[in-house]
Amino acid sequence: VVVIEGVEKAFGAFPVLRDVSLTIRRGETVCVIGPSGSGKSTLLRCINALVPINKGSITVAGRQVNDPTLDKLALRRDVGIVFQQYNLFPHKNALQNVMMAPIHVLKQDRAEVEERARRLLAKVGLSHKHDAYPGELSGGQQQRVAIARSLAMNPKVMLFDEVTAALDPETKKEVLVTIRDLAAEGMTCILVTHEMGFAREVADHVYFTDGGVIVEHAPPADFFGAPREPRTRAFLEQVL
Ligand code: ATP
Ligand code: MG
Repeated sequence: VVVIEGVEKAFGAFPVLRDVSLTIRRGETVCVIGPSGSGKSTLLRCINALVPINKGSITVAGRQVNDPTLDKLALRRDVGIVFQQYNLFPHKNALQNVMMAPIHVLKQDRAEVEERARRLLAKVGLSHKHDAYPGELSGGQQQRVAIARSLAMNPKVMLFDEVTAALDPETKKEVLVTIRDLAAEGMTCILVTHEMGFAREVADHVYFTDGGVIVEHAPPADFFGAPREPRTRAFLEQVL
């Protein structure tokens, strides 16, 4: 579904991604790990055309992301992205937050959208919180509303950028379970995460980035069990 080939990205003279290639097939879950500043968020933003690339190519569900004639709206319908900051609309309740984009961007029928929004909130375990405003929800609950909101666009791929980094261990768990279920149902997911246990359990493939380069990638058992590169080993020793 997503094919990234030889991607280079620099901010000014500062290279952030160097010859990055990554492929993810439909239904797979890929975890990207690596030190701060290694270009992980930038990579996700490139996939979603939030950041233009300098070189290489990115294809998402048959769309060439680096094509100047790209329909960005269509791309972003296919690619959901969830950030560490949930950015919910503070004056809309959970249900309204999930319904906004399908109604206002996709111009879908309100009754159908509402039915789907209720189903999505149930899916992320928030059936009882339809009417709650973001300020009345815990961080983990807000993050799950944000995930439901992304899913409301019926994306083909979901990108998660350190979505649990700001959460305490218990609420973290709720969000990770939600993502794990989503992955198990066959959603194609790319996660930037510092949750090594989660990556080990859920990922089909783990990528390690450092200094804008993919240093090593492997299935989780090999990646965590027998990392080949000294830089990967040093990183894992630090975080595990
Ligand atoms: P973290 O784990 O801290 O989130 P990251 O791996 O996600 O780090 P990025 O956010 O992709 O790293 O940033 C990679 C590098 O690119 C950093 O050095 C950052 O300062 C730089 N950078 C990111 N966005 C911009 C921008 N819009 N303009 C200039 N430099 C940027
Ligand atoms: Mg980041």
